[in-house]
Amino acid sequence: MKTGMNLHKDDALGILGGILDVEKDVLNSVKLSLSPHITFSRNVFVPLTHVCRNNCGYCNFRREPGAKNNIMKKKDALAIIREAETLGCSEVLFTFGERPEVHAVVRRELSKIGYASIIEYLADLCEHVTYKTSLFAHSNPGVLEKSEISDLKDINASMGLMLETSSERLMQEAAHKNSPGKDPKLRLESIRMAGKCKVAFTTGLLIGIGETDDEIYESLMSLRKIQDKYGHIQEIIIQNFVPKKGTLMQDAAPVSLEKLKNVIKVARLLFLDVALQVPPNLNKMHLVELLELGADDLGGISPLTPDYVNLGHEWPKESMLPPSIRERLPVYPRFINKEYLSEHNYEKAMLKVDEKGFVKTDDI
Ligand code: SF4
Repeated sequence: MKTGMNLHKDDALGILGGILDVEKDVLNSVKLSLSPHITFSRNVFVPLTHVCRNNCGYCNFRREPGAKNNIMKKKDALAIIREAETLGCSEVLFTFGERPEVHAVVRRELSKIGYASIIEYLADLCEHVTYKTSLFAHSNPGVLEKSEISDLKDINASMGLMLETSSERLMQEAAHKNSPGKDPKLRLESIRMAGKCKVAFTTGLLIGIGETDDEIYESLMSLRKIQDKYGHIQEIIIQNFVPKKGTLMQDAAPVSLEKLKNVIKVARLLFLDVALQVPPNLNKMHLVELLELGADDLGGISPLTPDYVNLGHEWPKESMLPPSIRERLPVYPRFINKEYLSEHNYEKAMLKVDEKGFVKTDDI
């Protein structure tokens, strides 16, 4: 079977549909050509706000804006970051609702603390992380303009934006009908802009939100084409939809293990040059099986904060992780260079990593 851009669409659809299989040896050899290790990042999750301009049918992270306290106070964010440093974390993950300042109450709250937008507030905190701590910022602020990505580049080690799906059709369905920011055209453009700005980038698909196999294939191919042009995608998350109480899609079926496995197989065959992440807290019982199919990263695992996007799904204990696991920074080893990192972050990273680009074990 062909790999990379040469993987035939019929073969990909055959695998996604479960009528064609791929030998584990083939998948593993792709994985091993990238790295002999399974990786994770020791992180802390800082949700600056739960208010969001979108209202995705599967999300229970989002909250309606209240009269006050919509934005995490700076002193609280700094306290979490300080504690993360004492616990030996290397990544501060800033994930929060997209463009919350579309709501006047949030705009006023931000203005009171001196910011015109959540991105300005984010930049201030990233600057603190970069210059005042031993940690590295990784921001996931949603759809961004090129100028915003370029402003954030030097104060982030890497950044991220889930594509979720390239299906425009789902903009009319429960998943994304109330979410202008989930327009795949906007998201693909942000991912492209990050490539132009040379930002090491994390993206991914959310599987099981109503998409067809054809749309899964098209989503992966749209990322493949961007990667062929810019080469900045460091990892792709293959995240399984899990229904959450109180959401529009609470009664939708969770994605089957078989489908998740099939998507991982196709993604592995298509991406010879990108790590594949599976969220360990959503797949605790099946991690070994998924890793055998070519997934090679477990994303951020925190000793301090929960996965606010999937509350109730606890991180596995580090002692339960595979023996070949290595800690990485939020930026993957092959992007630790001065093209992708600011001089300052590059120097900081070089102090933390070994000759292969993983966190030195005496720092663990
Ligand atoms: S999934 Fe993200 S973009 Fe969608 S409503 Fe929740 S916080 Fe907003």
